Amino acid sequence: MREATPEERKRYYRDEWSSKDLPDYVLHTLSLREFGFDHEGKGPSDRYNQFMTPDELSDYLCDRYPYAVYCSVALYERPSERKKWLKSELAFDIDAKDLPFKRCDCSGGDVCELCLEDARRVTAEFGETLSSDLGLNNISYVYSGRGFHIRVSDDSVMEMGQASRSQVVEYVTGGVVPSDVTLSLGYSRVFRERAKRTFEELSEEDLVENGLGRSSAKKLMKEKDKAVDLIKKGKFDNIRNFEGIGPKYFKRLMDFLTRLNSEYTDGKVTIDKKRILRVPSSLHSTVSRKCVEIKDIHNFSFEKAMPNFLNEG
Ligand SMILES: [Zn+2]
Repeated sequence: MREATPEERKRYYRDEWSSKDLPDYVLHTLSLREFGFDHEGKGPSDRYNQFMTPDELSDYLCDRYPYAVYCSVALYERPSERKKWLKSELAFDIDAKDLPFKRCDCSGGDVCELCLEDARRVTAEFGETLSSDLGLNNISYVYSGRGFHIRVSDDSVMEMGQASRSQVVEYVTGGVVPSDVTLSLGYSRVFRERAKRTFEELSEEDLVENGLGRSSAKKLMKEKDKAVDLIKKGKFDNIRNFEGIGPKYFKRLMDFLTRLNSEYTDGKVTIDKKRILRVPSSLHSTVSRKCVEIKDIHNFSFEKAMPNFLNEG
């Protein structure tokens, strides 16, 4: 992956981009959204823009071919002043470069097919929870260039305040230990699944870094299958009785697991009702990939995100 040149950006918006590539949820509410632009690759400093029609946006993009294009998850009566907030999509940002565990050697802002594939899997999991557990229907997925966005536009979530959005993040990620655990039923399915996934990734080294003595960490890793099985059944508390664990370390382990769970997405994005996100169909110039709406998150091919200028040489 490499950076796009200004000439390539120009060609992209002039020859390849079309307002028809905007997802319906943006197209139908275009004039109510705040647009933000990054002209120099230093972040979206040009904010408070409003476009009344898709053609107006199109003219602007052909004329200015910005480095990056963003729009608000919020709808406003007066988007050019960011005033008279009406409602906001509920958004999740799953960035491949920020995953807590990696199978690859990517560092800094780099991503590769492996970490992108892991980010895609997490995105699909979160989407599944939003739809089957929380009963949400209008869930859209976007490949953002270095990761994925989930954008939910059901009426029931669009009017939510920050506190409710924060609860949704905690539930979907398994970012807090649920407080309503009953002895007979154990932890919720979502929490068990997230904790299991994270626990499976843990190494002896991770445990030692989190304060467990070397010999206890070794013992816990030796019994990993047994621990995973207990987590699957929601019987976390039994891990407390493992040799060398005890109540104090057990509490620490649970805090560690929930913290790692919450690192799969940037919770600040979901809570922020005035956030701007990269516009699907726009160009991610740092990596020369198109930010694209995804029809089927289970069968997404990264080929779809290749701009023509990469193939034309
Ligand atoms: Zn990678």
